[in-house]
Amino acid sequence: MIIVLLGPPGAGKGTQAKKIEGEFGLTHVATGDLLREAVRRETSLGKQAQDFMLRGRLVPDRIILDLIKNKIRGGASGFLLDGFPRNIIQAEELDELLEAENKKLDLVINLEVNHNEVIDRLNGRVICPECGKTYNVDHFVDEPLVCKDCGSRLSQRSDDNPDAIEERLKVYLRHTLPLIDYYKEKGILLSVSGERSPQEVFHRIVDLLQRVEDVH
Ligand code: ADP
Ligand code: ADP
Ligand code: ZN
Repeated sequence: MIIVLLGPPGAGKGTQAKKIEGEFGLTHVATGDLLREAVRRETSLGKQAQDFMLRGRLVPDRIILDLIKNKIRGGASGFLLDGFPRNIIQAEELDELLEAENKKLDLVINLEVNHNEVIDRLNGRVICPECGKTYNVDHFVDEPLVCKDCGSRLSQRSDDNPDAIEERLKVYLRHTLPLIDYYKEKGILLSVSGERSPQEVFHRIVDLLQRVEDVH
């Protein structure tokens, strides 16, 4: 199965992807994680992307497509794409890339979360720099800010500040939101409310995916 997780920044795509990949044996491909890794390793791709990311802008399509091509070509057969595509051009390129590999996109899960809630979530997000696990600061009232999986110190992403968050939400509305109609027209869009607990959202997604698997 090849699945795209769609939704505004902070909707819970990464949180759900980590749960789904284990349950369905899919490879989680998150362009944001790949880019942050490239920035951390100071590769030339990372250097090109860094400024756009800090400002909350989209990294140029050419860079993103280079990054994603290697992941899709030849690799695993099942994917969970998170944070890609983010505009119509990327969606069209993905269609072409999959077609050339005799693969197709099975499903797009659109996580719906209202504007104020995503702002709250992004402001409270802390991540583990080692294993990439995501948390919310509210869950650490009397505890040290360390990863429950690997014990590393958690930190805030450099683009989870009010200015970059505002810019990312603008970019989402302008460039990414049109993908909802794009995939609706193809008949592969399923919307899920992301405004419940992570576990409840996950159960809903599992239900949907099991029904899709039964059809295949
Ligand atoms: P969030 O989870 O908050 O939506 P991501 O981790 O997916 O953020 O992405 C972080 C940043 O990386 C984005 O603001 C953008 O600059 C860049 N980025 C990630 N994926 C893409 C993409 N598909 N196209 C262009 N830029 C991207
Ligand atoms: P995205 O990948 O869509 O940008 P994340 O998975 O990184 O979103 O989640 C953003 C923030 O919201 C994190 O702090 C995460 O812990 C929190 N979060 C994720 N899902 C939920 C949920 N269902 N309810 C409340 N908070 C959530
Ligand atoms: Zn960790």
